[in-house]
Amino acid sequence: MIELKNLRKSYFSGDTETIALRDVSLSISAGEFIAVMGPSGCGKSTLMNVLGMIDTPSDGQYLFNGADISNYGESQLVDLRKNNLGYIFQSFNLIDDLSVEDNIALPLKYLGLNKKRRKARVREALELVGLAHRAQHKPSQLSGGQQQRAAVARAIIVDPKLILADEPTGNLDSQNGAEVMELLHLLNAQGSTILMVTHSKENAKEAQRVVQMLDGRVVSADEHGSELNA
Ligand code: ADP
Repeated sequence: MIELKNLRKSYFSGDTETIALRDVSLSISAGEFIAVMGPSGCGKSTLMNVLGMIDTPSDGQYLFNGADISNYGESQLVDLRKNNLGYIFQSFNLIDDLSVEDNIALPLKYLGLNKKRRKARVREALELVGLAHRAQHKPSQLSGGQQQRAAVARAIIVDPKLILADEPTGNLDSQNGAEVMELLHLLNAQGSTILMVTHSKENAKEAQRVVQMLDGRVVSADEHGSELNA
């Protein structure tokens, strides 16, 4: 599904170059559940942003379903993104002025679905994450766990092939974190490929594979990350 070849990403501020990703090569098959681990600043978010087509690589190749998208323009990327990708963030990133229902419906609006179809899909997603009774609430009226479950519903509303979760349980207590992990497993069982950044060894153990990063490089990407066995 995804093939990264010698990917490099650097940022410039003035003359100073920061290399966030160095020579990253990685294959991801459809249906995998992968955890990404590594110390702060090692390039995890940059990798997620590049995979999520929010940021473009400086060098190297990114093949998505066989197409080299490294040189795609913004409008091509937007099209790919809205049809294929779902994002879940540590801080939920819901829009406070919109109801839970309208937050979840937003990606469908961008896809041009009419109101009736949006409503039916949103209802299904709300039921899946156990928030049907909170549809009209504003995000600020929900607990952290409920907000993240709303964010999961928003991420999956377009039936994405790839879900990118950047520390999805980072702001949650263990009970709510476990519920979000359960949802991710359910989505994975239904066919979504999942890539999850986590600092939690417990959560990483639940993934099929751990991508271990250090200083902008992928140092291991096997079934049992070295850090987990330490
Ligand atoms: P992590 O998510 O593992 O904490 P990041 O991907 O955020 O790591 O950062 C990797 C490196 O790239 C860090 O040295 C960081 O300071 C740098 N970096 C990330 N984003 C930017 C940016 N927009 N501009 C400049 N440097 C950046």
